[in-house]
Amino acid sequence: MTPDLETSLEHCTFCPRLCSHTCPVSLTSARESLTPQSKMSFYAARKLASEPWHPSAHGPEAASSRPLPIYACTGCGACTAACLHHVDPAQALMQARVEAEQAEAGPSALADLPQQHAQDLQRTAAALATAPQLSERTAQAGDVAFVPRCSSDDSEGNEAGPLREALAFLRVTDRLRVERPDFPAVGIAALPASCAGYPLYAAGLSEPFRLHAEAFAHAVEPYETLAVSCAPCTWLLREQYAQHGVPLKPRVLHVSELLSPYAEALPVTRPLAALSYHDPCHLGRRLGIYEPPRQLLRRIAGRVCELPHHREESRCCGAGGLLPRTERALAGAMARDRVAELAESEQPLAPLVSACPGCTQHLRRSAPGVALSDLLHLLDEASG
Ligand code: SF4
Ligand code: SF4
Repeated sequence: MTPDLETSLEHCTFCPRLCSHTCPVSLTSARESLTPQSKMSFYAARKLASEPWHPSAHGPEAASSRPLPIYACTGCGACTAACLHHVDPAQALMQARVEAEQAEAGPSALADLPQQHAQDLQRTAAALATAPQLSERTAQAGDVAFVPRCSSDDSEGNEAGPLREALAFLRVTDRLRVERPDFPAVGIAALPASCAGYPLYAAGLSEPFRLHAEAFAHAVEPYETLAVSCAPCTWLLREQYAQHGVPLKPRVLHVSELLSPYAEALPVTRPLAALSYHDPCHLGRRLGIYEPPRQLLRRIAGRVCELPHHREESRCCGAGGLLPRTERALAGAMARDRVAELAESEQPLAPLVSACPGCTQHLRRSAPGVALSDLLHLLDEASG
């Protein structure tokens, strides 16, 4: 069980950096100030010794324009998996971001995040409204409601991502129902349920996040189940809403959990010879969802290859924790480190697939020229 915040900070402050070898941020950056122990000690100095938050007031970060080290965490959970005390630095560092925000020490890269998030939601709504077939497919009370990812920072164009994803989900589930009439009734979640609010949460904007979570929870109340494509939002809905005092009525599934029990019924018209799979951290280490995506991929590909770091040992691609906004170059380098593992895969040229559209988008933007796809689109293409 994760110790409380104060105990966690004490454990880390006096720890001889036993988990440093696991942190993808400190490994890729080779910056000693970004090991889990250093980041936790930085926070402990402010929490327990009341040192000032503002970077101009203290420490090695003072001379640089870099964000505080507490923002150099993707929430991947690799350090926790290695910690004998079960400390979860990512959770502590998210609380640190709340306190930094209150002390007006947040990074300039996140200054307009609430406005950007509101615009992303509007763009998602506008994009979904352009497809007439979607208006007839809004989820009804008691249905499984699909929650598309938000359109934030979409390299394919802000409008394309959520719309393409919603259409892919409907096509795949329609094909499944032909073979399996017992497949549950599905539709697209009514707006504003298009993002669970992960960007607000990860920025430490506690009040905007709580307000967004309450609006989201109210919008999805009629549904029996939510099927979510984004891995961090799946985790947020399952584990963080309740902790933030926002009860959620429907059960929450990742799309792979909804679809995998019906995998054998998916018609496969265009099978792939092989592919490699990237475990999204919030899906794998945080929620233990390893097998459902692999089960679906085995249905459409002759061979599902593992990268050298996979399942519990999977290496983060740098997409989480708003790292692409606060440390863009570092997040890109992490993605390229992850893609470089393909060279050691059994099929180096096979497409790399993630079960989270956020990972796919970040990997695609950071490693152009590499064949990348996400689970839902691949299922749609293979069964179309
Ligand atoms: S998370 Fe655990 S292993 Fe890592 S620095 Fe803290 S106490 Fe040490
Ligand atoms: S959660 Fe991941 S990125 Fe954050 S400190 Fe731990 S290992 Fe590093």
